[in-house]
Amino acid sequence: MHNTRFIVDSMLGDVAKWLRILGYFALYRADYDDEEILRTAKQKNLWILTRDKQLVAKAKKMGLKATLLPQATSIVETLAFMSKNLGLKLEIDFEKTRCPKCNGILEKRFSVGVGHAVPENIKKNFPVVLVCKSCGAVYWPGSHYRMMLKILREASMLRRESEGVDYGVEFSQ
Ligand SMILES: [Zn+2]
Repeated sequence: MHNTRFIVDSMLGDVAKWLRILGYFALYRADYDDEEILRTAKQKNLWILTRDKQLVAKAKKMGLKATLLPQATSIVETLAFMSKNLGLKLEIDFEKTRCPKCNGILEKRFSVGVGHAVPENIKKNFPVVLVCKSCGAVYWPGSHYRMMLKILREASMLRRESEGVDYGVEFSQ
């Protein structure tokens, strides 16, 4: 499943961010239109995620893989849905995690070598950090990370509770 690469419809930036955190390649821009999504999905063999029924219909016609996400749900519900319907693993693996900002590859670096990007107290607590090879953003497992784990736990619980529940949306591939 980690080999599946996604393209995420505009307005779903939080979905793209989470896919990247969970280690999935996920293209996203806030200004995508349908044609660009379809064209890019075809060229790069990407799985389309959207809340737009018409886009799923167009994708199917072209023989592309697309999944309709439930309307206006929280990120916890969306993650539970993707876990159930796409087999998304709700675990953060630092070996696979990608940059939530830009989809770039992250590499481990000693925080002392990262310079001003990391505050001194963080360097003391986290000798190793993750640095994005594309945009240079630096990540360490601080309070934000604990919040993400909480969201993933809630999503896993919801997924288990929802076993057998019909979301009323069609899953297509
Ligand atoms: Zn980046």
